[in-house]
Amino acid sequence: MSRSNGLAPTPSGKPELGALICRVCNEVVATLPTNGVKKIYGVCGKKACMESTIRSGG
Ligand SMILES: [Zn+2]
Repeated sequence: MSRSNGLAPTPSGKPELGALICRVCNEVVATLPTNGVKKIYGVCGKKACMESTIRSGG
């Protein structure tokens, strides 16, 4: 049994249109079920990226 409709199915039944993007390396870290295409900037789990944010101070 295999299906592929292009969108990843989610438990909530919504397509995950939101993308969590690492603002350091610009990679998509995760997708989120949002009401539209959204880009949310965060930081991924890479050591280099995390250190980069610590150094930037806030
Ligand atoms: Zn990163």
